[in-house]
Amino acid sequence: MSRNLHRLHSFVTDLAALTRRTAEEAEILSQGAQLLSALVAQDDWLPDAYAQPDPERYRQYLLHCDSAEAFSVVSFVWGPGQSTPVHDHTVWGLVGVLRGAEVSQAYRRTADGLAPEGPAARLEPGQVEAVSPRIGDIHRVSNAFDDRASISIHVYGANIGAVRRASYDAEGRPKLFVSGYANSTLPNFWNAAASPPA
Ligand code: FE
Repeated sequence: MSRNLHRLHSFVTDLAALTRRTAEEAEILSQGAQLLSALVAQDDWLPDAYAQPDPERYRQYLLHCDSAEAFSVVSFVWGPGQSTPVHDHTVWGLVGVLRGAEVSQAYRRTADGLAPEGPAARLEPGQVEAVSPRIGDIHRVSNAFDDRASISIHVYGANIGAVRRASYDAEGRPKLFVSGYANSTLPNFWNAAASPPA
């Protein structure tokens, strides 16, 4: 049991309150980004079981899903040199780097496919970026390191592992996918005995 798992519990509680208070995406993204940057500012709470890279491909571990599926929280673990295909989300999302660093390249739709939008952004620990169909939903993300793992914490406005969305080939042709999750158990932050002393 991770000593500081209460950080995840507080984050989930605050995000639940936010998504119940407003359905305004801009407000959820701006206030959610503050909550997420506070969560990833300290790398002392993610249990090791949800921080394990896979030599074959990046992994997505579900950390929490809201009971109404208003949001889900995922740890995204990159092995050395791993990257996603170009993909979309179809719902709002926030990405905060917990460990290592990642590189994100945005894409926009064009008449004949997709084109890179601006330069690639490098995200360092504590930094947060947002995606959504409204502000730009297509990107390709890579571990910035080819000699070590990186980990980011993602929040999405749905049970993201069950969302039908698309990856895109070099010609910009979509291919539907449902990501699922790598884990079958969740971190238990509901244990009063694990709470920090008052
Ligand atoms: Fe993404």
